[in-house]
Amino acid sequence: MPGYTPGEQPREGEFIKLNTNENPYPPSPRVLEAIRAAANGEQLRKYPDPLGTTFRRTAGRMLGIDPDGILIGNGSDDILTIVTRACVPEGGVMASPSPSYLLYRTLAELQGANFRAVPFTAAWQLPEPWPVCEAHLTLVPNPNSPSGTTVSLPCLERLAGQLSGTLVLDEAYVDFAEANGLHLAAVGGKNILITRSLSKSYSLAGVRFGFAVGEPALVRELVKVKDSYNCDVLSLAAATAALEDQQYLRTTRTRILATRARLTGALERLGFAVTPSQANFVWCRRGDRPVKPLYEELKKRMILIRYMHYEGYGDGLRISVGSDAEIDRLLEELVRLL
Ligand SMILES: *Cc1c(COP(=O)(O)O)cnc(C)c1O
Repeated sequence: MPGYTPGEQPREGEFIKLNTNENPYPPSPRVLEAIRAAANGEQLRKYPDPLGTTFRRTAGRMLGIDPDGILIGNGSDDILTIVTRACVPEGGVMASPSPSYLLYRTLAELQGANFRAVPFTAAWQLPEPWPVCEAHLTLVPNPNSPSGTTVSLPCLERLAGQLSGTLVLDEAYVDFAEANGLHLAAVGGKNILITRSLSKSYSLAGVRFGFAVGEPALVRELVKVKDSYNCDVLSLAAATAALEDQQYLRTTRTRILATRARLTGALERLGFAVTPSQANFVWCRRGDRPVKPLYEELKKRMILIRYMHYEGYGDGLRISVGSDAEIDRLLEELVRLL
């Protein structure tokens, strides 16, 4: 198997990084304080709380949900691995719409499962009826990557009703969207699991923390599969402090949404077809004209964006919403190149 290829993370050179959807703003100052306070000999000497009880209480309070319905993870990718191991037998079936997050196929390959990619409609919606109802696990990123589009909650509810297996709503980008599916998982959604990441909206990609929300009975089964100590004391402290500072999240979110609108307009004026985004990145194409050379030329100019090619769909560029200064630099170079 080829294995999953993560986005480029250059260790050398001063790149403007707009390729893996990191937040351009630093995490809340309260996160740094919490990490400093947790970094003492006594706490580092001992194993962390396997269930992350303090984090779960805080998250339960902030989100208005039962802490027993929360699972902690070493990034939401860890959660996706746990769910796959728990729900999918060898030779089982996993499905997701396509184009979407490429990791899902790799998880299926690791599990010895069959992966079914179901094309999105031209408007980035799910086909109804959904064609793979027998899958053990169905994964839908909402907002989707690379498109930044969303599927409506009634549509997701209808999908869950058709499936015999578990539905994961991967909400890695949901803090940048207008609506989220939390109530679908929290209110009687027996087969729905929501996954969240602190990497993007909370500016903590380097810390590695994510969590899932679902029925407590489902979460208890997932706990059996995870590494006992999958989250360390520093990430637990950081994640708890990050969730407590909702005011900070609102402030950075507002700035990112404003920059997203400006980036979208500017790209359209440069002749790109830009898909309206509910995430902290935009997906753009230039009709039939090739876009890979633009990615390559920008890289030479120390600006990294993501060039993506999907079989049966074609290619495009995914550009993270950076700071205003970073986006100005990008647009300057694009004007020159075009
Ligand atoms: C970034 C991303 C993740 C992974 O987030 P981590 O918490 O950093 O592991 C999951 N799903 C999608 C769709 C993503 O883009």
